[in-house]
Amino acid sequence: MTSEEIRISPLKMRQAQFHRAVRHMGHVKRGLIDFFLRPKRTLSLHFPVEMDDGSVRIFRGYRSLHSNILGPGKGGIRYHPKVTAREVEALATLMTWKCSLIRVPFGGAKGGVVCDVKQLSQPELRRITRRYVAELGDNIGPHTDIPAPDLYTSSRTMAWVYDTYQALHPGENNLPVVTGKPLELGGAEGRDEATGHGAISALERYLDLHPLGDTRGLGGRRVAIQGFGEVGRVAARRCQELGARVIAVSDSAGGIRADHDDGLDLDQVERHKAEHGRVEGAPGSHAIDNEALLELDCDILVPAALANQIHRHNAPRINARIIVEGANAPITPQADSVLQERGITVLPDILANSGGVVVSYYEWVQNLKNETWSRAENLARLDHRMQEVTAEVVNRLEAMRGQQHARRNPPDLRTAALAIAIERLARITLERGIWP
Ligand code: GLU
Repeated sequence: MTSEEIRISPLKMRQAQFHRAVRHMGHVKRGLIDFFLRPKRTLSLHFPVEMDDGSVRIFRGYRSLHSNILGPGKGGIRYHPKVTAREVEALATLMTWKCSLIRVPFGGAKGGVVCDVKQLSQPELRRITRRYVAELGDNIGPHTDIPAPDLYTSSRTMAWVYDTYQALHPGENNLPVVTGKPLELGGAEGRDEATGHGAISALERYLDLHPLGDTRGLGGRRVAIQGFGEVGRVAARRCQELGARVIAVSDSAGGIRADHDDGLDLDQVERHKAEHGRVEGAPGSHAIDNEALLELDCDILVPAALANQIHRHNAPRINARIIVEGANAPITPQADSVLQERGITVLPDILANSGGVVVSYYEWVQNLKNETWSRAENLARLDHRMQEVTAEVVNRLEAMRGQQHARRNPPDLRTAALAIAIERLARITLERGIWP
């Protein structure tokens, strides 16, 4: 990626998408638009942690609550060296739209700690997590702001979040303070698969409505997936279960392309990754870099790694027919326009990767009621929700295309999804009444 692309402000990117959607909506009060563009609050923290070698390091953490109009804030905590306040705010905003679109009763939030998990031991990560949660204090809570996993955090991290909060609030049912927990600790069955599973569920519904060529569904389709973490790995498996051929996958160390047209043997890839920590070198494949993976000739491309992967420089070279945004914000607004002109469909992040927060909501409900639903039940409910909302977004786009100004500002699925989400938030804000 060029240095120019790296500098793209995630907040500006969200705002550009927001304004584009507003152009296609009915009247929204001006003041509300300004209100929705800014986070309600962003906490910025510095805290010391004792490292394994006895030294003390200062870490920087954030938690942003964009909106709590629809319910308590909801959103992941990411651990990454490039986390910034602006990035966390942009992602909190995205969570608001995601929750509004997919109709879970949560607002948008996001948190992060600036650190490189690959350079830290488990005890160091535990101490960072505990201190971060202690510093957040009552800014998180089962009915105020509910964290979850995100980039480089996992169910283990969420167990530490829960345990720390519980230590500070004894004598209460604190399980609903965080979702994405381990199963033995009130986690929901299927939560770890939910984002990847939901993305493919949205894709299935889209293909029902707009088949690629003569065949329906994913059968025989060639799929390339950037990222082989919780989202990419599950999406790959799910595509294969539905008859697609996964021709390439990658992780942060590099990518692989199947030697044969029938695709990768995912069991072998997973085994290789477990043994060597990277997909590169898996039997039946040859190495390609992450840039080349994005440009492969394929039917479906799933960017399921980092933001800003498809930008104006490589967008003209993308050779997929449909892109499913498994990651948050993998496509820049400029690239969106290029892809649209080239007739490439994008299933946007607020729809495609909302499966995680949907099953987080199921986890929260189960924790409040002291119930456990089966994996099959959680995933069946998720499928139903993803399919219903995907159809709603597709219908909305069709309706938008019939409007007068659509020729000058052609809408896409992102515009349609955002318009549904923003309108719902606007409606509910006014129903509640501006306080006081
Ligand atoms: N971090 C995930 C996301 O960006 C999940 C958030 C959640 O489950 O609260 O959607």
